[in-house]
Amino acid sequence: MLILLSDAFDPGLPEKLKKFGEVTDNKSRVHEAEVILIRSKTKVTKEYIDGAPNLKLVIRGGVGLDNVDLVYAKEKGIIVHNTAAASSIAVAELAFTLMLSSTNHVAKADKSMHEGLWLKKELKRTELYQKTLGIIGMGRIGTELAKRAIAFGMTVVAFDPFVKSSDFAEMKPTMKAVFCISDYVSLHLPLTDETKGLINSETLKDFKDGAYLINTGRGKTINENDVAKALESGKLKAFGNDVWCSDPPENTVLSSAPNVTMLPHLGASTKENLLRIGDIIEELIEDYVS
Ligand code: NAD
Repeated sequence: MLILLSDAFDPGLPEKLKKFGEVTDNKSRVHEAEVILIRSKTKVTKEYIDGAPNLKLVIRGGVGLDNVDLVYAKEKGIIVHNTAAASSIAVAELAFTLMLSSTNHVAKADKSMHEGLWLKKELKRTELYQKTLGIIGMGRIGTELAKRAIAFGMTVVAFDPFVKSSDFAEMKPTMKAVFCISDYVSLHLPLTDETKGLINSETLKDFKDGAYLINTGRGKTINENDVAKALESGKLKAFGNDVWCSDPPENTVLSSAPNVTMLPHLGASTKENLLRIGDIIEELIEDYVS
């Protein structure tokens, strides 16, 4: 059995998987591979699947499966798994980092100091304490973020059409009911037909003036042009973003919009998460083999 590591994983993973067969990161051997391990970079499209006639199992190290043609994979009898539970803490900590760094101007202050400036009077911080956080998508990551926000003395509200109650947030019946009271809105949505472009000029009207928006879910759930306009008008005070329409983004309007903190899709990239992903992959291949 050939196992192809098509994206970046923990360096110790090939050694762990050797017991199942040959392990390679040579992508030109895709046509020989029975198991292919991907993260977000490799796109398992129809063409990709057609170029991998021996493929039986695809494991996506991470949550979203929007880079896999699930319908065609099913048609071809290919099993597809993700490692959904592994990344929750890593992404929740990053969303929280974006909230803290936006409200404390960490990136701007650091850049200005490197440029020899002293913006002590200009950079006005605000506290998270007693502010309201609105979470859109109250799944695994949203829940981990809510726990952290509660520890900081925030009020947490959330909207999720499939989650009616939570120990960590007051669930609201509509997104609008979340937007209109939230000082911070954090998106934790999968990319689906319903969530594509969900944050746009219309929905932004429901936000509080001067709200902070954070997105560590999927880039295409926001309309970048509309968010940039909201930042320019001051409707949004700041935007902390980890996810893009493409990795890396091409000519994003956000790079010239004010008060944007841009990260290169770092959500899942903790050392601990890569180890957890590796453990789950080992278990999934063990199950497949047996
Ligand atoms: P999850 O499935 O546990 O939670 C997603 C939640 O979104 C679910 O509870 C679902 O009911 C809800 N939802 C679906 N459609 C909705 C809608 N229209 N409105 C409101 N809620 C809706 O997934 P998770 O583990 O919490 O991950 C969430 C997303 O985070 C993933 O789908 C992925 O896109 C993204 N993610 C990003 C990174 C990163 O590196 N930045 C890493 C992992 C996951």
